[in-house]
Amino acid sequence: MNVPALTLNNGVEIPALGFGVFQTPPEETATAVDTALRVGYRHIDTAAAYGNERGVGEAIARSGLDRSDVFIETKIWISDYGYDETLHSFDKSAGKLGVEQIDLLILHQALPGEFQLTIDAYRALETLLADGKVRAIGVSNFMPDHLARLAEQSSIVPAVNQIEVHPYFQQKELLAADRERGIISQAWSPIGGITFYRDGSKGSTLEDSVIVDIAGTHGKTPAQVMLRWHLQEGRQVIPKSVTPSRIEENFDVFDFELTADQVIAIDDLDTGVRGGPEPEAVTLETFGRDIPEA
Ligand code: NDP
Repeated sequence: MNVPALTLNNGVEIPALGFGVFQTPPEETATAVDTALRVGYRHIDTAAAYGNERGVGEAIARSGLDRSDVFIETKIWISDYGYDETLHSFDKSAGKLGVEQIDLLILHQALPGEFQLTIDAYRALETLLADGKVRAIGVSNFMPDHLARLAEQSSIVPAVNQIEVHPYFQQKELLAADRERGIISQAWSPIGGITFYRDGSKGSTLEDSVIVDIAGTHGKTPAQVMLRWHLQEGRQVIPKSVTPSRIEENFDVFDFELTADQVIAIDDLDTGVRGGPEPEAVTLETFGRDIPEA
């Protein structure tokens, strides 16, 4: 089946449902992506910092699919920010992925304390876009203030902002800021992965009674209900799994519809508690790491 597409602000289309590979070990990545491509996913989200771009590229190359049939997204890590550094980081990622062109290239985080470096990195993305090396550019974990500062010093509106969104952490103000600027919000940890694989103390969205009950009414699973909730609210989603049955399950979300009341019931589960790092607190000192050459 073909996944419905969302149209980015520059006219490029992205499947509404993609496949994430954060924390997928490099040696398991090609196998997981093979499975995803066989199931029908046509968008893979990786990152230089995940250390598994090579596995993503291997699976795409051996899939037999046309390059134009698979949408590849990757992210520049903060240690490679700066104009020349970010241009070079494209070469590293493209080399590992084994492709000439990347569909969507985004900045993984803002560096709030060294915002000029972030701007310089974004300018490099603008150059890569103008040169046709990437089809769209964007950001991740940018808060409304970061988006405003970026807008003051750049000419191209990011196509996406990839941010933590799941029923327990919904960032409604940030979603509104994205919407007002014409930026598509991509939900990371869309089924709340970060609520259960961190330390378990926040409880698991998969076991939430509201979500479990809604799932029961549709004969679907909690993960499928959460993915459907994002899709119905217009967000792009990138669930991750290395488990073939779950990779299939997460793709099987286009044959049912949540009612308006069910969507509202999930909207009401927001705790306001972030699972991931506080974007304002990201620094090179705490999060910097070397990204190897291709
Ligand atoms: P997810 O919400 O996708 O959850 C992934 C976890 O859920 C894994 O432990 C997986 O286990 C498990 N799982 C997957 N499907 C099911 C299912 N149907 N039922 C039960 N358990 C399931 O969290 P992620 O944090 O991985 O986020 C998804 C993607 O978002 C990442 O892979 C990455 O691409 C992106 N991301 C981006 C970030 C950023 O800063 N920009 C930060 C974090 C993520 P298993 O694999 O063992 O099956």
